[in-house]
Amino acid sequence: DRVVPNAVCTFCGCVCDDIELTVEGDRITRAKNACVLGVAWFQNHPAGRHAPDARIGGEPASLDAAVEEAARILAGARYPLIFGLSNTTSEAQREAVRLADVTGACIDTTTSVCHGPTELALQAVGKPAATLGEVRNRADLIVYWGCNPAEGHPRHFTRYTLTPRGRFVPEGRKGRYMVLVDVRRTASARAADEFIQIRPGKDFELIAVLRALVRGRPVDVARAEATGVPLERARSLAERMKKARFGVIFFGMGISMTRGKQLNSAALLTLAADLNQYTRFLAMPLRGHGNVTGADTVLTWQTGYPFAVNFSRGYPRFGPGEFTAVDVLVRREADAALILASDPAANFPAPAREHLARIPTIVLDPKVNETSRIARVHITTAPYGISVGGTVYRMDEIPLPLRPALPSPYPPDEEVVRRIADRVLELTGRT
Ligand code: SF4
Repeated sequence: DRVVPNAVCTFCGCVCDDIELTVEGDRITRAKNACVLGVAWFQNHPAGRHAPDARIGGEPASLDAAVEEAARILAGARYPLIFGLSNTTSEAQREAVRLADVTGACIDTTTSVCHGPTELALQAVGKPAATLGEVRNRADLIVYWGCNPAEGHPRHFTRYTLTPRGRFVPEGRKGRYMVLVDVRRTASARAADEFIQIRPGKDFELIAVLRALVRGRPVDVARAEATGVPLERARSLAERMKKARFGVIFFGMGISMTRGKQLNSAALLTLAADLNQYTRFLAMPLRGHGNVTGADTVLTWQTGYPFAVNFSRGYPRFGPGEFTAVDVLVRREADAALILASDPAANFPAPAREHLARIPTIVLDPKVNETSRIARVHITTAPYGISVGGTVYRMDEIPLPLRPALPSPYPPDEEVVRRIADRVLELTGRT
């Protein structure tokens, strides 16, 4: 047996870096401290040589042949799409941006189908921010809005927000008050001190009411209560927010992907900013995939934009709605695609999936998935965090180094993407 201390779970945006892995032979048999999702992540990844290096047209192929075929497809494409990126290292994400540059591609990440609207809001209104370490040590009021951390981020409560004893919250859970705002009573409501049920599609309105109450402005009772929340309830929440020593709002896709989208996210960020007139308050999107925050970060420092970036004119252009993957596929514009560590064929709308099946697609993924089944080329890569080192960004934008526990016979995404880009340059004669 071998024990790997302080390993990093890259399954969800919590990116817990306190996991103790026990390795027996070529398998991880124990993941101490991990939640049920994390245990499944570490234990369900196939170890050793479990698949061919690659498949071309469904037939086993060598890595060299697959890289050659992938480069040939991308070099010959007029409008290639590169999509995914949120379940791989930031080193691989950087190589994917380079590949987009050398192929004149559209590059987009899973952000466009989760917190893309929040990214637009951040550009418009900014973000009152802090690290999860500060939240753990200081927060006495925690609001979750439009999200269900009990099931999506199981250790968020125990590691960062509710139960830890913090430097300035020595009583732990007793020293904190938690409010859940959502359209239905989810498993997270059991952990809350107060559950506020809001009518679907009324988030923006309730946030506007809270902003008015925080600033002491008049509020129209009938309009306020059209949100489904009695005005007195909203008033009590606004007062509680102003009186908190350190408050935080975590928000999910119930904000960013419902009616209002970026306006909802912007309103919530602005509410938190307003509250800084009275106390310390911040707002943070609850990010899903392990390194989706890294995808936003790397694309931003490489291109200036967080997602939906197009290189077809030789320089990066930003176009949500125009250069986002679903739109590029639904309009049948892409004539080739490279999918990096993602499975759009399992969750994109049907017209996008159908176009993806029509065009030559290259998939880099440790496992067979819906997209690799329809792909022209599938290259088996090593799983990040488990077999590949590098960097990931936690949801509060803190970069963390990975501590891989198992060697893998397969190459990391970073190496494969770099090889494809180098070969495209050779085929096209560009430098
Ligand atoms: Fe992994 Fe997320 Fe569970 Fe932490 S909360 S162990 S990162 S799945």
